[in-house]
Amino acid sequence: MGVSFQVSKFVILSPSMENTQKSIPINLYRISSPLAVEVIENRRLTAESRGRKNDVRHLVFKFNGSYPCIPGQSAGILPPGIDSRTKRPNSPRLYSVASPSTGDHGDGKTFSLCVTRHFWENPQTGEKDLPGAASNYLCDLRVGDKVKVTGPTGKHFLLPGDFGVRDFIFVATGTGIAPFRGMLIDLFQQGYERNVWLILGVPYKDCLLYDDEFRAFAVKYPKFTYLTAISREENNPFSSEVQTRQNKMYVQVRMYEYREKLLKILSGSNSMMYLCGLKGMEEGIFPVLNALGKGAGIGDSFAEKLKADQRLRVEVY
Ligand SMILES: Cc1cc2nc3c(=O)[nH]c(=O)nc-3n(C[C@H](O)[C@H](O)[C@H](O)COP(=O)(O)OP(=O)(O)OC[C@H]3O[C@@H](n4cnc5c(N)ncnc54)[C@H](O)[C@@H]3O)c2cc1C
Repeated sequence: MGVSFQVSKFVILSPSMENTQKSIPINLYRISSPLAVEVIENRRLTAESRGRKNDVRHLVFKFNGSYPCIPGQSAGILPPGIDSRTKRPNSPRLYSVASPSTGDHGDGKTFSLCVTRHFWENPQTGEKDLPGAASNYLCDLRVGDKVKVTGPTGKHFLLPGDFGVRDFIFVATGTGIAPFRGMLIDLFQQGYERNVWLILGVPYKDCLLYDDEFRAFAVKYPKFTYLTAISREENNPFSSEVQTRQNKMYVQVRMYEYREKLLKILSGSNSMMYLCGLKGMEEGIFPVLNALGKGAGIGDSFAEKLKADQRLRVEVY
């Protein structure tokens, strides 16, 4: 299942991180005046046999007019219906843009999202498997359906304007892959040739997201390293150095396995690390980063140092 991208023009990013962030428009559409977009694709990314609990979708939306959104930003989705808690219309939920800056079709007229169905348990009533409003609405959409969108939002998770002189380490869990898919396509379309790593964690091998696209990149771009961590199917071979629940293989274990190469990249003052996905993933990753930094004589808190140097970006939810 290969995906090709039509490139009609290169994205022009301004030369410094500061300028990039200033010139990016946000909140063009609000709850009172949302943009109506049309679903043109809703493709399941995980194996059908995994059922609704591991159902992750790639959704492509077409719009008329303007919805300038770039990887690292999020779109607000207004699900229909009333919130039973507030008795008011449902509020927007944020979803990371999964497409490159010109959209999957390269014409600046679409954007894409990567959405997993959310289910929850009500502790008061004991009810289980209650479907989250927006995620299940999105996953159930059909081609031709119209959706109300707010945003785009967010500036803190963008690629820097001077990306061409930087190395990148991207670490994702689950749908946290969304911004990195868009960023990687943007980078490669613009002739990026430096080291870029992607470490993706999912529960099962048949739940890997955009795996074929990343494998194709790894063949085409020798400096792109693609690693996976399959938590429920692989064991942690470094359990005395990096403790994980039931010895599962998590992204931080894969980081430890490749510590020498990783540290070599992260020791460069132009490198940047981005983490995106499940809330709490940073709690497993920071101790590994700190241990690596300490071993290399960089200090006790490598994670804090990276943050202070504006070289560590985190988006978890
Ligand atoms: C910056 C950002 C980017 C994100 N990117 C993505 C992404 O790329 N892909 C993705 O899949 N998700 C993403 N998310 C998560 C997404 O925004 C939603 O939080 C997620 O899909 C769940 O929304 P929902 O409407 O399905 O669930 P909701 O209906 O909002 O339920 C969420 C929680 O609210 C509580 N709740 C809901 N209804 C009730 C009720 N009636 N009574 C009591 N409690 C209730 C429950 O605790 C439940 O677990 C992102 C979040 C952020 C902040």
